[in-house]
Amino acid sequence: MAIKYNVCLQCGAKQAAKIIYGMPTHDVKPKVERGEVVLGGCSLPKSSKDYHCKSCGFEWSREEAVDHAYQKITSIKANVGGFFGNSYEIDWHLPTGEVTHLQWENSRDEEPIRWNTTCVPSINAFQSTNLLRWKRNYQPEEMVLDGTSWSVEIRTEDKVIRKHGSNAYPETWEEFCGLMEQVSGKTFR
Ligand SMILES: [Zn+2]
Repeated sequence: MAIKYNVCLQCGAKQAAKIIYGMPTHDVKPKVERGEVVLGGCSLPKSSKDYHCKSCGFEWSREEAVDHAYQKITSIKANVGGFFGNSYEIDWHLPTGEVTHLQWENSRDEEPIRWNTTCVPSINAFQSTNLLRWKRNYQPEEMVLDGTSWSVEIRTEDKVIRKHGSNAYPETWEEFCGLMEQVSGKTFR
């Protein structure tokens, strides 16, 4: 899973305690003793925090952990295409905003048409695609020959996350393609 909710957003310490609200049930007590859970009290505030760092005391919600994960993305490289027809690659480097769009009209062995532009980073738009929680691999139930395949490589400061598929897509694939087209100003699908 690409989003680690229980890593402290402030100091990076791992295995933060989960904050539990409301009247604790009997089986919660040993978890409190082991430091896995802290009790948040009986009243449920609307903007409740979900995790508590045992090292620095910082508290955060699941939504804040998601925001933080997307803010750490430094580049997105996406590929789509079939055996026949056009295929595309977009490489977006967020710190500089540089975008490279490549288009192959037939075989990938040929020289692609190259287009460079810049896009001011607006990674927040990608949160609604749930990109970081896509499965690693999407495949159809039945074999398809000569279909379309795709791949997405997401880099952060400390890791590379790869997703791919052929003839099967994440639910938000069309939305993702639309955003990549906005980033590059060129076709991507
Ligand atoms: Zn901390």
